[in-house]
Amino acid sequence: MFKKDQSTKEKSMKATARKYGEVLFVGMPADLGRKVFAGRWKHPSRRLKSSVKRAIAMLRQVSRPRAMVRVLPVLGEHPYCFLNDFRYRVKSLRISRVLNLCHEAVVCAATLGHQFDAVLADDKLCAYDRFVLDRTASAAMEAVMDDLETTLSKRYCGPGQALTIRYSPGYCDWPIQGQHEIFALLPAKEIGVSLSASCLMKPCKTVTAIMGIGESASIRENGIVCMHCQQQGCPHRRCSHRPAYARKRSGDTIGKVQTQIQSIAR
Ligand code: SF4
Repeated sequence: MFKKDQSTKEKSMKATARKYGEVLFVGMPADLGRKVFAGRWKHPSRRLKSSVKRAIAMLRQVSRPRAMVRVLPVLGEHPYCFLNDFRYRVKSLRISRVLNLCHEAVVCAATLGHQFDAVLADDKLCAYDRFVLDRTASAAMEAVMDDLETTLSKRYCGPGQALTIRYSPGYCDWPIQGQHEIFALLPAKEIGVSLSASCLMKPCKTVTAIMGIGESASIRENGIVCMHCQQQGCPHRRCSHRPAYARKRSGDTIGKVQTQIQSIAR
């Protein structure tokens, strides 16, 4: 009986979250040190190591990672993805193409909190320590977003469903002004996050993102915008997969070259 009551309560909480948004508390990852060094500082000096150690201890003390999350229906059948109603659209044709494969989208904002901003602005910090603290906090923010993604997937994806990767305004062809739509849809003030007219977020370590919820198979096949893009040299490419037509074209070229070599050899 108790179990039944609990599941009913949980369902009603999820319904509220879908309608108005909900606050989630995210933990600071235990292996933050490893994440800070991964891909950034491969051969850290002793000074850097101890500076990162201090930065992590400070971060653990002052940051309170929180996220505001809202699940919205995707109104497909248009080149652009409309969220909730026809006032809000994702102004990126490439990202819309992926989101339109989904039936719902999760819009979220996560932050480390205001206290971190105060620590970063402290005059007593030397430039070196400030730089290390800033980089460490950026790595922490990424780790918090990864954690949040796992939580959201467990919370909102039903059987056979999955989340797309996360996209933020400023990525690919989505202008940074897309932040205004996100803030219009999300009661981000509840976690102390605000947006200036020039799209600057406060606190400084804040990330907003959107992820689609769709069928796992379709997400696996087509869920990353870069899968549909031909720009191989793009520094922001997030997968090595190339569209079928591009593969065919290069295959044809290779085929032609091979035939030419064979004919010369003969
Ligand atoms: S490869 Fe670059 S340009 Fe193409 S979709 Fe990905 S991020 Fe955008």
